[in-house]
Amino acid sequence: MFIIAANWKMNGNVNFAQTYCAELDKFINEQGVKSEIIVLPSAPLLTVVKGNFKIGGQNCHYEKSGAFTGEISAELLKNLGCDYALCGHSERRQMGESSELIAAKAEASHNAGLKAIICIGENDGEDFAKTVFAQLDKSLPFTATAANTIIAYEPVWAIGTGRTPSTKDIEERHAEIKTKSGFKVIYGGSVKPENAAEISNAANVDGLLVGGASLDIEQFKKIITARK
Ligand code: PEP
Repeated sequence: MFIIAANWKMNGNVNFAQTYCAELDKFINEQGVKSEIIVLPSAPLLTVVKGNFKIGGQNCHYEKSGAFTGEISAELLKNLGCDYALCGHSERRQMGESSELIAAKAEASHNAGLKAIICIGENDGEDFAKTVFAQLDKSLPFTATAANTIIAYEPVWAIGTGRTPSTKDIEERHAEIKTKSGFKVIYGGSVKPENAAEISNAANVDGLLVGGASLDIEQFKKIITARK
């Protein structure tokens, strides 16, 4: 199934989440949306975010429980109704998360019964293959299977910048990642209503991870319907 995930990052509040989810739920039901829609809110909003779609955490800890103030376990994500955990978003890699730590988080997600969405992507000026294949090698735990793991290819230079790779580059890079991993590969980085049709209908694109544009429900609805 095609996957479309809304990463709210550190945005939103209770009112926003209630209004957004009611609108999204109505839209999915009325339009008979076939894609798997996932909302990834800030952790405190996980109990507010409800509707005919999946929910996921933006991050999790690798331990089941313990003295880790401020953290959230994969087990608790599952307990709160999540099906997914985002692991290794570039905004967290930039804060110092290593691929090894991300693999531990993905493993904890699998052990808790969650699907892990593992993010990889090169920085501006970095060689795609060198960076992304090294990340892929180290960020995938031994528990990863095609049933419990999705790779999000997110070129760091495309996140929140309005810049995107060419469609041909996306198709080729996704093909390489798919061949190497055997997993679904979704694209993230400045997906907007204006480019959603082209990107979501491109070869080898199994879904979208949408940041900024997912915060506006009208834009997110247009992105959902862009896939033919
Ligand atoms: C993201 O947060 O994963 C992302 C792709 O952000 P944006 O769509 O804003 O570039």
